[in-house]
Amino acid sequence: MSQECIFCKIVQGLIPAKKIYEDDVVLAFHDIRPQTPVHALVIPKRHLVCLDDLGEQDRMDAGHLLERVAHVARELGVAESGYRTLINTREHGGQEVDHLHVHILGGRRVGPMVCR
Ligand code: 5GP
Ligand code: ZN
Repeated sequence: MSQECIFCKIVQGLIPAKKIYEDDVVLAFHDIRPQTPVHALVIPKRHLVCLDDLGEQDRMDAGHLLERVAHVARELGVAESGYRTLINTREHGGQEVDHLHVHILGGRRVGPMVCR
C-alpha cells in the first residue's frame, strides 16, 4: 500500500468507488470520468506503480488480472459487442494515476487507435 495513492485508498475503502468485482488479488470499479458508456478500471490490490513494476514473481497475479479483465467485461455486458483495453505507462504513455490499472472501454464503437 502507498499512503498517497488514490487507488490504494479505494482498495482500503477510504475513498468511495462504484465497485464491480473484487477478489483477493484484484478490484474492478467504474471510472469516475467515463470516456465511453462503459468505462471500468481493473487494478491489482497490491500497489504496483505501472506495468514496468511487474517482475517474474508477479506472473501468476498478472495472468489472473488479465483473465479477470475479460470476466469483468462479460459482467458489464460488453464482451460480445467488444471493447478496448488500455494500459498507460508513465509520462509518455499518459499515465495519470501511479497504480497499475487496465481500462475497459466499451458500450459504443471506439475509434481507431490514433496516437497524437
Ligand atoms: P490513466 O490516465 O492513469 O491511465 O487513467 C487514470 C484513470 O483513473 C482516469 O480515467 C481517471 O478518470 C480515473 N480516476 C482518477 N481518479 C479516480 C477516482 O478517484 N475514482 C475513480 N473511480 N476513477 C478515478
Ligand atoms: Zn496504489
